[in-house]
Amino acid sequence: MTDKYDLHTHTTCSDGQLEPQELIDAAKKERLKGLSITDHDTMAAYTPSLVQYALQQDIDLISGIEISSFYEGTSVHVLGYDFLLNASPLVELITLQRESRLARNIQIIENLQAEGIPITFTEVSEGHTHVVGRPHIARLLIEKNIVSSMEEAFEKYLSDQAPCYVPMKGVATQEAVERVHAAQGKAFLAHPHFFRSYQFVKDLLHLGFDGIECYYAKFPRMTNERYIRLAHRHDLLISGGSDFHGENKPFNELGCAYIEKKDLFSVQHPVKSMRDL
Ligand code: AMP
Ligand code: ZN
Ligand code: FE
Ligand code: FE
Repeated sequence: MTDKYDLHTHTTCSDGQLEPQELIDAAKKERLKGLSITDHDTMAAYTPSLVQYALQQDIDLISGIEISSFYEGTSVHVLGYDFLLNASPLVELITLQRESRLARNIQIIENLQAEGIPITFTEVSEGHTHVVGRPHIARLLIEKNIVSSMEEAFEKYLSDQAPCYVPMKGVATQEAVERVHAAQGKAFLAHPHFFRSYQFVKDLLHLGFDGIECYYAKFPRMTNERYIRLAHRHDLLISGGSDFHGENKPFNELGCAYIEKKDLFSVQHPVKSMRDL
């Protein structure tokens, strides 16, 4: 049996639906050997009790984060792996990103209010202690019967083409990569499959990335192989993950994309003890 590592997952610490411990249970059920929790702009999922639980369940945990960055005005997600969880360059970055998100969320809500939608900042933030993003606003719009699906919420109001969109003043991609390195981690370019041009992906690779997320969600093998070849040509590492957020995203089922242990980068800082936190 192959040892599968799903290196791209989200929890309730950002916009996922499962609590970190529930995600470990789900990983066990899917017979995964390892997991990286890559919440947007936070590593809050990595608590001593979670680390303990993963150990008990025999799931290898690899530290992870998905950083919202920008390059030439385009949103670029940077996956950081195998870093020291308490390293100040990343802890500081999270604080900066939280401030940017806060300012942005306030503006998005003002835009929605200007469209006549009864929604308040307090309602959006309620119950979320870590990262709040557009998916949380979208869910609230569904609850309020203003739209009937996430897709509709994005299409009508929140996507970068929609009237209430506000870009996030996120960190520059190169700085995100550098901060992952400063925390002794490895930086991977997340889901390159989504960029408008292949040339743009190649340009990004000059920013110091260690690797590329080649196996992603349910993209067909042929699509993924294109990025594996690219990684090999640039002498870069490869990774893979589902981008699991919860049960209602059929394209992102937990474990649908993974990296086999034999292809996994060498893990320098396995998250195994309280000392890591
Ligand atoms: P944010 O980090 O606040 O900009 O929100 C980005 C997140 O919103 C992404 O990671 C996706 O999970 C989600 N998202 C973006 N576009 C859509 C869409 N069209 N439909 C549903 N979810 C989306
Ligand atoms: Zn997300
Ligand atoms: Fe992403
Ligand atoms: Fe993601």
